[in-house]
Amino acid sequence: MGLVTAGLVVAGGIAAAPGGWATAAAIVVIAGLHAEISLGAERMRRRIAETRYIDLSSVWTFAAALLLPPLLATTTVVLIYTHLYFRVFRPAGTPPHRQIYSTSTVVIGVHLVAVIQYLFGIGDEFSSPLGVLCLVTCLLAYTATNTLLVVSVIRLAQPGSKFLVILAGGDIALETATLSLGALVAAVIVPDHWVLLVLLLPPLVLLEQTTLIRQLETRAETDEKTGLLNPDTWRSRAQRGLAGAERDGAAAGVLILDLDYFKEVNDRYGHLVGDAVLQAVADVITSEVRDDDVAGRFGGEEFVIALSPVRPGDDGGEAAVREVGERIRRRVETLQVQVSAAPTLVIEELSVSIGAALYPATADELDTLLSIADEALYAAKRAGRNQVQVRNGTPPLGIPAPDHSSS
Ligand code: GH3
Ligand code: MG
Ligand code: MG
Repeated sequence: MGLVTAGLVVAGGIAAAPGGWATAAAIVVIAGLHAEISLGAERMRRRIAETRYIDLSSVWTFAAALLLPPLLATTTVVLIYTHLYFRVFRPAGTPPHRQIYSTSTVVIGVHLVAVIQYLFGIGDEFSSPLGVLCLVTCLLAYTATNTLLVVSVIRLAQPGSKFLVILAGGDIALETATLSLGALVAAVIVPDHWVLLVLLLPPLVLLEQTTLIRQLETRAETDEKTGLLNPDTWRSRAQRGLAGAERDGAAAGVLILDLDYFKEVNDRYGHLVGDAVLQAVADVITSEVRDDDVAGRFGGEEFVIALSPVRPGDDGGEAAVREVGERIRRRVETLQVQVSAAPTLVIEELSVSIGAALYPATADELDTLLSIADEALYAAKRAGRNQVQVRNGTPPLGIPAPDHSSS
């Protein structure tokens, strides 16, 4: 693919008309300027991208695809990406073959755009309704090729990962915004108002920074291994949930979950497999609670959930809380974890013990609810594991309060 790309670059240089060269040069210069201005934010985004990284330079590569004959557009793309490689990707630790692959996917997108323009019979005149339709089609085709090719390669590298998860991780809104700006560059700015290209830089820098801030916020709030909330964030969200339940006169529940004999999984299969199991259990938890419920990881193989509000019923919400706990327990019991590093290995014999405490029937402070749920968890362990125990009503005195914040 790299060789084909290199060949196309040379051919593109020879075949292009002089007017195209001027446009190409302008796009390369402004793209280079853009990359230099947002160097810090881009390197950081590149480093922390978890699944698919959306490249804001597609404003320029998409504009090039729309405005230039395919071979010249390819030259432009390769120049932009070479600059990016040396200034952003290499310092952020991206291996060269990945860079070549993503450049090649963009080059394929460029050619697809040319085909679509040919089919529509539209050159670089987009002001008619048909022209706009052509732009939108190109936009969709361009993101679809990139997405498909990039997602397939991520799937090859991480066989367990789900198509949709990678897609969503890629932030479709950001990609659409970037390509829309690219379409504006091609349709409005370059033909008539070259100098206005410079005015695109401030919004692009802002887009980059807000994206980076959002990514950093998410990272600061979540546990790296499972994507659930970290203890501090869980605490403050759970507090908020309890406050909401108090305001509404509703019930709430706090659950603590601890995997049974998890040390054996680690001892038998190693820590990496243990981590894959933790991730799978976290996914079960996420899928079994509602969006308003708050799920976190307290460290180790201990998870916490704050359910609020729950149906209070006659039983202070016990049935509703038990139902959620039981659902998770049953899912874990039948969970089969396929380990991506060793595809033939499937971990099956898992189970989880769960302790829960009800608000306000049992206590009205988060810390007290946690220690009572913890006591219920250990009762579940002692009673044979793989079960849910819910505390409803005031507990006997003298329950020790375990320190969860330090783990
Ligand atoms: P039980 O809870 O049923 O009493 O038995 P257990 O074997 O699960 O015991 P415990 O909860 O005390 O064990 C915790 C184990 O979890 C010890 C440690 O090896 C493992 N562990 C803790 N954190 C991690 C982690 O981040 N990754 C992996 N792979 N293992 C972890
Ligand atoms: Mg355990
Ligand atoms: Mg434990």
